[in-house]
Amino acid sequence: MKIVFATANRNKLREIQDLIGPRAELSTPADHGITEEIPEDRPTLEGNALQKARYIYERTGLDCFADDTGLEVEALGGEPGVYSARYAAVNGAGEGHSSEANTALLLERLAGVENRRARFRTVIALILSGREYLFEGVVDGEITTERSGAEGFGYDPVFRPEGYAETFAEMPLALKNRISHRGRATAKLIDFLAAL
Ligand code: IMP
Repeated sequence: MKIVFATANRNKLREIQDLIGPRAELSTPADHGITEEIPEDRPTLEGNALQKARYIYERTGLDCFADDTGLEVEALGGEPGVYSARYAAVNGAGEGHSSEANTALLLERLAGVENRRARFRTVIALILSGREYLFEGVVDGEITTERSGAEGFGYDPVFRPEGYAETFAEMPLALKNRISHRGRATAKLIDFLAAL
């Protein structure tokens, strides 16, 4: 089985190909001549994941999937959520996709706030023979008051998953992948493909 993964990120592709194994051969939009940035301007993770998968399907007619991830903080009404990658930029506190500025803004917004509950959520949209399927992966946790750890990326230094004493940035990648939002959503996708 051949599936297009709607990402420009070769590391993500390699990581998911490794998890899926030989049951599916993944390719990228660029392998099919799609080199422009794929739009993702919907107000929800589900909407963005579907928008990206449909973009590929409409242009290639091939089976495909896309993912979208957000950090949802309870005391901030679910923010930064779908804007996680551009949190600082959309709030006029930085440019582009700066993890440093995003994390700084998050800590600032939560200064003095007691409720630190948060979750990472990943949604994967799969289109198979024209039918659409959604898979969700969630990890609950809390936002720490300061950064710890040098592993990972994005908000990892300030996110401590429930049941652990360390932040994601203090964990070996293999452990993070086992319990993470993306790991869980990907496991659901893989189980689904394996059962076909
Ligand atoms: P994307 O949908 O995978 O591009 O993720 C959107 C944004 O969420 C990223 O730019 C990061 O800021 C953040 N993010 C996604 N996954 C993680 C993670 O595993 N750790 C920390 N931040 C993440």
